[in-house]
Amino acid sequence: MENGEGDAKDVSRNIVIVPVATIGCGKTTIGLALVKLFGWGHFQNDNVKTKKGRPQVFADTISSLLITNPVVTADRNNHQKRERDQIINDVSRTVPDARFVAMNYVHDRANYDNIRKATRDRVLARGDNHQTIQAGSKGQDEIIEIMEGFMHRFQPVDPQDEHFDLIIDIDPTVESRENLEVVIEQLHNNYPGLFKDQDMPTDADMDAAIDWAMNDYKPDFKID
Ligand code: GDP
Ligand code: MG
Repeated sequence: MENGEGDAKDVSRNIVIVPVATIGCGKTTIGLALVKLFGWGHFQNDNVKTKKGRPQVFADTISSLLITNPVVTADRNNHQKRERDQIINDVSRTVPDARFVAMNYVHDRANYDNIRKATRDRVLARGDNHQTIQAGSKGQDEIIEIMEGFMHRFQPVDPQDEHFDLIIDIDPTVESRENLEVVIEQLHNNYPGLFKDQDMPTDADMDAAIDWAMNDYKPDFKID
């Protein structure tokens, strides 16, 4: 089966969640919360240790994780069409029936100041608790400049031209807890088969998963 063919209602595996975001939107927080709630796969581009061929290593890792996980979050900003095409094409080559769900942090140009405020506050509060963007030890100006680069280069998803099975719009300026609930609801509505063997999480379960992701998670390693 090629991606997009067949009935979404029958799908029970090979779903890739592709965040479309900039730094500090909450991608990793939601990815980790989904791991906690459902035991799904999650891989961060920040954990790719090689310098050469990083996009290929990232895609190959996502493909491998699909062997044992029905859903995998491809945790990278994927803020440009070229990156999204790359992950979709490279994973589809090894997993032909994979379906791709955009976890789409909507970035309207008119809302940029609100997005800047929300993401900067989070990243500066995160301090050094990150693999590369260490706002505690790097100067704040340098971090803000890196974040601005992503905002500037951001290309919105084009539903006509990009091969997403589902696009879930979420808001980078609201709490991750709220976005998590939207993501779970829409996945459940579109792919009920993913959830057939488990109870849906309660409000308290989602609160606890976000709390764990925000307060107990530490990156596996850091790069100076
Ligand atoms: P990413 O860069 O998109 O992966 O963003 P993260 O998930 O790492 O979030 C950036 C920082 O904001 C982290 O320190 C998170 O713990 C924190 N964070 C994420 N979601 C929320 C939220 O809803 N409220 C608050 N106050 N902090 C959050
Ligand atoms: Mg992250």
